[in-house]
Amino acid sequence: TIVARKLHKSFGSHEVLRGIDLSVKAGEISCIIGPSGSGKSTLLRCVNGLETVDRGVLRVNGEDFGYVEKDNAYHAVSPQRLAEQRSRVGMVFQQFNLFPNMTAENNVMSGPVLVKKIDRKLARERAQELLAQVGLDGCGHKYPAQLSGGQQQRVAIARALAMDPSIMLFDEPTSALDPELVGEVLAVMRDLAHHGMTMLLVTHEMAFARDVADEVLFMDEGVAVERGDAREVLANPREKRTQEFLERVL
Ligand code: ATP
Ligand code: MG
Repeated sequence: TIVARKLHKSFGSHEVLRGIDLSVKAGEISCIIGPSGSGKSTLLRCVNGLETVDRGVLRVNGEDFGYVEKDNAYHAVSPQRLAEQRSRVGMVFQQFNLFPNMTAENNVMSGPVLVKKIDRKLARERAQELLAQVGLDGCGHKYPAQLSGGQQQRVAIARALAMDPSIMLFDEPTSALDPELVGEVLAVMRDLAHHGMTMLLVTHEMAFARDVADEVLFMDEGVAVERGDAREVLANPREKRTQEFLERVL
């Protein structure tokens, strides 16, 4: 589960998140949509611990995430605690971010081996299972440069899953792909959703949002302008800003 209440985040004097409310329950799929620069990636990066929040509440799986509140001030958690919290939240980026000098299999097993100190043989077996799960059986020995964008992104998903996260975050996972490769990545994400994974994603794939998401959140200028049932928001947006955005992208 993810709960955000009145979340604020600034970079210098630029307030990028201005009081975001969000709730993703276990097994739910939530999609964030909104124009460029509205703060979508920043919100995801907060939920993954890549950024720290300034004010408000951010709870992941029932605990304050990345900070402890004491005497009305926020204090950073220890690096060990942050690493432990972060290991439960998988993230997939637009640009895959695979290690180019490692095979697909080594990419997938690197987290379990380095962070979780899992035995290499076990980690390798699990990596092979995960690669099969994302449709890449037999590709484990290949390097990222030998794989298509869609295959690389599926390796990235397998790598995130290797840490056994309870939540998966996706930041425009198909935006860097050639159109004919988008479907294979969305299929893997749909499969994860159907298996009960809790997911929060930023996407421009409105058909995917409509078919798979439980909730849609429309962000503009750091504010959650509209939030509700995915099909309802996409078909009958209440807010003018949401209507205008959807008219542009649909
Ligand atoms: P896009 O659709 O283009 O990916 P976005 O909704 O994901 O946009 P963010 O990447 O969250 O938007 O950025 C929101 C604002 O915060 C932008 O104005 C951006 O320039 C600014 N910003 C993001 N990260 C930083 C940073 N590390 N330092 C300073 N400003 C930042
Ligand atoms: Mg972004």
